[in-house]
Amino acid sequence: MHLLGAIEEDLAFGHAAGDLETLAGRNRALDESIFVVDSSIRLTDDELDPLTKQKFVKHVSDCSCCHEFLEQYRTTIALIREAEDIEPPKELVEKTLIFLESQRLQ
Ligand SMILES: [Zn+2]
Repeated sequence: MHLLGAIEEDLAFGHAAGDLETLAGRNRALDESIFVVDSSIRLTDDELDPLTKQKFVKHVSDCSCCHEFLEQYRTTIALIREAEDIEPPKELVEKTLIFLESQRLQ
């Protein structure tokens, strides 16, 4: 599922470099955060196209907050897949919301 296919086309992954002063900047940061969440899910499921995968992997290697989110997501998914009874990943939902909110408030 492509949540933000249009963003992928021109996304420069600029949130780590600033440009968050304006409302437009804030909206862009939120769009990027959603993109990071979406890309983390699709990377983990091996559903990213090669170019987006390359850009995303490069970004998370340079961006500590996105790297941390991706690692948390992968760890949680791995635990869920190992589990016999699948519990709702409450911590992941909470961390995702906190991550999105922290980007929105910057
Ligand atoms: Zn980032």
